[in-house]
Amino acid sequence: DPLTQLYNRRYVFNIFRDALKRYRRYAEPFSLIMIDADHFKRINDQYGHSAGDAALRAIADACNSAVRESDVVGRFGGEEFIILLPHTEAADAALVAERIRRTMLRDTCYWQGQELDITLSLGVAEAGPVTDTLDKLVKAADQALYEAKTSGRNRTVVAEVVQQAERNSLPEIKAA
Ligand code: GH3
Ligand code: MG
Ligand code: MG
Repeated sequence: DPLTQLYNRRYVFNIFRDALKRYRRYAEPFSLIMIDADHFKRINDQYGHSAGDAALRAIADACNSAVRESDVVGRFGGEEFIILLPHTEAADAALVAERIRRTMLRDTCYWQGQELDITLSLGVAEAGPVTDTLDKLVKAADQALYEAKTSGRNRTVVAEVVQQAERNSLPEIKAA
């Protein structure tokens, strides 16, 4: 992605498909974090589009500094970001998500001397029996993100997907 230097959505999805194959074949866990900047329209409206762009780069930096070498950080589109974490269970992915969120709170972003107030909402989901396709896993993370938004923003929500195969008669995805 030219603005943030992150991977684009298509690249992340390709890595994603490989991770899903390894999950299905070897039960290798992996998780996904979906991130959406809160009230981002306000930043653009108040300070202009260039300030918004600077804010997006600051978010990209926060993501990059919070993840491991093997994690893949991408720009999903607009003010939305996606992170793929191989060999990572939901609880650990949630720690990474919280690290990113707190980094944005702690490191004030300035643009032409103006303080930009940027907070993030994050949704976390782990690959599992009911999130075993790209579509389902993205949906679960997106649902968790939506919960984060509606319950007040500036927070991380983990999708509580049923992990035990024997409970596959309960395909409901419950967001905590
Ligand atoms: P919410 O907390 O519900 O996510 O509110 P929001 O304002 O972030 O959500 P909404 O989807 O209404 O607005 C997203 C805004 O992000 C709209 C658009 O102007 C801005 N945006 C998207 N891509 C870019 C970009 O590349 N640069 C800049 N500066 N702004 C962008
Ligand atoms: Mg958005
Ligand atoms: Mg937003």
